[in-house]
Amino acid sequence: MKFGGTSMAGIERIRTVAARVKREVEAGNQVAVVVSAMAGETDRLVGFCREASALYDPREYDVVVSSGEQVTSGLLAIALQAIGVPARSWLGWQLPIHTSDAFSRARIGTIDTEALDASLARGEVAVIPGFQGVAEGDRITTLGRGGSDTSAVAVAAAMKAERCDIYTDVDGVYTTDPRIVPRARKLARVTYEEMLELASVGAKVLQTRSVGLAMKENVRVQVLSSFTGDDAPMADTLPGTMIVGEEEITDVERQLITGIAHDKNEAKITLAAVPDKPGAVASVFGPLAEAGINVDMIVQNIAHSTGSTDVTFTVPSADLARSLDVLGQAKATIGYDKLVHDTRVAKISVVGVGMRSHAGVASTMFTTLGERGINIQAITTSEIKVSVLIEEDYTELAVRVLHTAYGLDAEVEAA
Ligand code: ADP
Ligand code: ASP
Ligand code: MG
Repeated sequence: MKFGGTSMAGIERIRTVAARVKREVEAGNQVAVVVSAMAGETDRLVGFCREASALYDPREYDVVVSSGEQVTSGLLAIALQAIGVPARSWLGWQLPIHTSDAFSRARIGTIDTEALDASLARGEVAVIPGFQGVAEGDRITTLGRGGSDTSAVAVAAAMKAERCDIYTDVDGVYTTDPRIVPRARKLARVTYEEMLELASVGAKVLQTRSVGLAMKENVRVQVLSSFTGDDAPMADTLPGTMIVGEEEITDVERQLITGIAHDKNEAKITLAAVPDKPGAVASVFGPLAEAGINVDMIVQNIAHSTGSTDVTFTVPSADLARSLDVLGQAKATIGYDKLVHDTRVAKISVVGVGMRSHAGVASTMFTTLGERGINIQAITTSEIKVSVLIEEDYTELAVRVLHTAYGLDAEVEAA
């Protein structure tokens, strides 16, 4: 069982979580629980680091930001004990959860389950703080924002759990963010592949890495709500959304488009008048890659008669300052004339395996946005996804009109 930030926000909610865990224990299950920090806490801790120094040591950043989960894991163990459920917390270094030393975005390697197995065998509930691990040299690491999902899937895989239930503040995975489109529909099942794509283009309900790991390790993952009362259906009746292999999806469920996601965390950079010659593009993206900056969308315009071309691309907003620095230093080698950047952009993506066998998905997207006067600044596609970059102010409108255009709106019940 994994509980996210809103589910852990405050003692009252932690008590509700404890009651939920108790129900599973009483149903005869052995339970390991992975918890997030209280909602907003990690942001607060990140803020402290930035305030302390703009150029903070990432190893110390991890020490600071991992602490939110230490608090909630201890509190949940206390709340469980208070209602008669034997429980103890196991911090990342105590198990340990071994990770790489890529501080602030470490990858889980192996998890020693000996202590955990023994704890469960003693009839205890093991409470594990998500988001954290330990690298060689006994340094604390964190897994990147939203990483508790990945902790949960990794623990489930290591313990060969029957299922990994991700409890959150919505009752499943929807065709799009239900907070933006009230008529979004809940999906009973989504394939690993589609969920991976949806997560990677901004559907933050699951961290992308957690889905990749679940797919690789064949972990059965369910997304479900923690905001339900004592009469809520038990998790093994599968009230939420199951992430499954493609073979488990029935023909009736198969849709052309599975979901729509948006991402406001990218920034657009345009280099004007880059020489139109072999190696020019490499001179732009080489230095960015060396700096560890992920470039997402790329548009290279056709050459002007002057023998130069404009190159537009996106980077994570968090990496914008560093990107500008890197590109500034490489100005002479690249030979561009001017650099402009814009953070007021959003990426809108439609995802569905049905695209593989159906034409016209992209053109429906372009027509629908065009009819609303929404200009498209960049486009990328994969086998099961089309993404466009638009002005940020149009995000909600774009998601809503596309949701309708692809026939995803839920039926409205008659009044
Ligand atoms: P937690 O703190 O439990 O990890 P998150 O805030 O990380 O929760 O993720 C849950 C949120 O994801 C929901 O509140 C919802 O607004 C958002 N979300 C975005 N896209 C989707 C989607 N397609 N289906 C469900 N929720 C979505
Ligand atoms: N607390 C961490 C974050 O806010 C990890 C998580 O909640 O999944 O990113
Ligand atoms: Mg989350």
